[in-house]
Amino acid sequence: MNASIQLPDSGAEFLAAPHIEAIPLTTPFIGPEQLMREGGFGSLLRLGANESSFGPSPRAVEVMASELPHLSWYGDPESYDLRAALALKHGCGIENISVGSGIDDLMGLAVRAFLAPGSTALTTRGTYPTFNYHVIGFGGNLATVDYRRDGFLDVDALVAKARELKPSIVYFANPDNPSGTLLPRQEVVRLFEGLPPESLLFLDEAYADFVDEDGLLPPYVHGRLLRVRTFSKAYGMAGARVGYMISTKRNVETFQKIRLHYGVNRNAQIGALASLADEAFRLRVVDDVRRGREDYYELAKSLGRSYLESCANFVCIDFDTNERATLIMNELLKRGVFVRKPGAAPLDRFVRVSVGTPAERVEFAARLHAVLAELPA
Ligand SMILES: *Cc1c(COP(=O)(O)O)cnc(C)c1O
Repeated sequence: MNASIQLPDSGAEFLAAPHIEAIPLTTPFIGPEQLMREGGFGSLLRLGANESSFGPSPRAVEVMASELPHLSWYGDPESYDLRAALALKHGCGIENISVGSGIDDLMGLAVRAFLAPGSTALTTRGTYPTFNYHVIGFGGNLATVDYRRDGFLDVDALVAKARELKPSIVYFANPDNPSGTLLPRQEVVRLFEGLPPESLLFLDEAYADFVDEDGLLPPYVHGRLLRVRTFSKAYGMAGARVGYMISTKRNVETFQKIRLHYGVNRNAQIGALASLADEAFRLRVVDDVRRGREDYYELAKSLGRSYLESCANFVCIDFDTNERATLIMNELLKRGVFVRKPGAAPLDRFVRVSVGTPAERVEFAARLHAVLAELPA
C-alpha cells in the first residue's frame, strides 16, 4: 500500500529547451499501422512507403533466425564485419564507412554534426521529409527551391540558391524520392562543383541499388560529400533499420563522436552482411521491380494518365491537380489501399505507388479503376 507516500501535485508542464518548444508537433510519416487503427482495417494493400514487396534475401532471414538466441548480446559497436564488406563493395577503406540505423539516423547525425543551430540547410521543396525534420529538430533553418515540373531536380536553382545562402548542408536524393527521377552523374558532379566551399552535400542514395552503378557518381570520397545508402529498399530490410555512409576518414570519426554506439542492432548487422553476399537475390528484385514499374506505366496509359519514368521501386501517376490526387489517395485508403503522394507543388498532382508483387499490382489496378469509376470526371 502506498497510502502514506506524499507526492507533489502534478502541477504545470515542464518545458523543453526553447528551440524545441518552438517546433510545432509534427509527424513526418503517418504509418500504415496508424491508418489501419484509424480506419478499422485488419490489413492494407501496403504500397505507400516504398517498402520492398519482395522481402529480404532468404539467406539473410536464415542467418538472422539462427542467430536469434544470441539476442542477449549487444551487436559489435564498430559493425566491423559489415563495414569491411561494404568497403570491399565500394572500393574504399573500412575507415570510410559509418553504419547507422538507417539513412534517417545518419541524416540526424549529419545535421547534428555539420549544421550549427541557427544556420541554414538547403533542399528541394516536397522531397523526402526526414531531412527537414532533423534540420528543424536541431534548430536549423530550412531553405528550399522547387522541383521542375518534369519531376527532375533543378540543378541550376539549387546551385544559385546555395551560392546565395552558403548553406551548411545541401540535401538531395538520387534516384529521387518522391519523383523517381535519376540525375545523370555528370549533373551530380556539376551540382557538387557548383556548391560554395561552405556547403556539404548530403547525397541520399536510398534507391541506388535499383540502378546500374555506372549511372551513379563513381566511387568517390570527399570531405564535403556524405553519401548514404540503405538496406531498407532493394534489400528488403526496412524493419531491421540499417544503412551506411561513405565519406572521408575524418567525417566517419566525426560521426564516431556522436553516434549511438549500440544503435545498430546485432541481427541487423548480420542480416545486412548476408544480404550483401546474396547479389543474385538483389538482381532478381531489381528485375521484378522493373517489371512492376512497366505494369504501372501500362496502367497509367490505359487510364489516359501520364506518369514519371522512375528509376526506383515506385511510380508517380499524374492526376492533374493536388485536389484530384489527394481525393484519389483518400478514396483508395477507404478501399484499403495505402499509397502516398508528394506534398508540394509542382509534384503534388501525382499519386505515388510502390511496386508490389504481381498479385498486389493487379489488386491495385482493380481498386484504382473502382475509385475512378465512382468519381466525377
Ligand atoms: C526510404 C528512404 C530513406 C530511409 O532510409 P532508412 O535507411 O530506412 O532510414 C531515406 N531516404 C530516402 C530518399 C528514402 O526514400
